[in-house]
Amino acid sequence: MSSPLLEVKDLQVVVGEENKVLLDGLNLTVNAGETHVLMGHNGAGKSTLMSALMGDPRYTVTRGQIIFRGQDITHETADVRARAGMFLSFQTPEEIPGITLESFLRTAAGAVTGKPVKVMKFRREMAAQMEALNMDPSYADRYLNVGFSGGEKKKSEILQLMMLKPDLAILDETDSGLDVDAVRLASEGIREYQKENPDGALLIITHSTRILDALHVDATHIMVNGHIVASGDASLVDKINREGYEEYEKLA
Ligand code: ADP
Ligand code: MG
Repeated sequence: MSSPLLEVKDLQVVVGEENKVLLDGLNLTVNAGETHVLMGHNGAGKSTLMSALMGDPRYTVTRGQIIFRGQDITHETADVRARAGMFLSFQTPEEIPGITLESFLRTAAGAVTGKPVKVMKFRREMAAQMEALNMDPSYADRYLNVGFSGGEKKKSEILQLMMLKPDLAILDETDSGLDVDAVRLASEGIREYQKENPDGALLIITHSTRILDALHVDATHIMVNGHIVASGDASLVDKINREGYEEYEKLA
């Protein structure tokens, strides 16, 4: 067994001038090739965990460690983490006027690999992935997320996943606000990523089972009040959707 891809140990994270504690004593281990699902009611700290993993400077780690591929990255910048192969898909992607989707993705791909990206090859691959996602080719030349519908923004996230092929992808409610067909496409996109990157790992935050239908899930974690209170297999997702979080809230 190889060493874990991601290890989060006893993580405590605070925010703001009052040092409000958002995560406390959180532990999580993800191995290469595994897909983990993170669930929890609104405000449990799921997005905070994602931001802390990616090195968002608004959040301060006051205890514990984040170890990626054996390297302690607890206090590394977001850039360093991205170059190491971590990828965060944002819950509400920003609109960036003046930067096209294609140039954004190409710059990101260059930053991740540290090598210049071959423009024509990149364009061809991107066109193929966009077709698979049923995205209109014109979106490549449109400014990032400006005037994109909710569904198109989410598809542009999945496109990022396909084009950047990170070692660890963290998807935060990629499925929220998507219609049935778009969820299916997103799910297929993620499955494609799994297939093409057998050592790639996914951490998926979701409330729905639909996006998971086509995916193999290795572990599910329940988060309450800033830490993980229970973990199980894929069946835990269905259990939560039937019974809710009440039984787990007592464990926090
Ligand atoms: P989830 O994604 O599980 O719904 P979040 O991680 O977004 O939850 O938020 C967890 C808690 O932390 C919430 O009470 C939220 O208001 C608070 N929080 C998150 N980010 C900040 C911030 N930048 N400043 C102050 N409070 C925050
Ligand atoms: Mg959230």
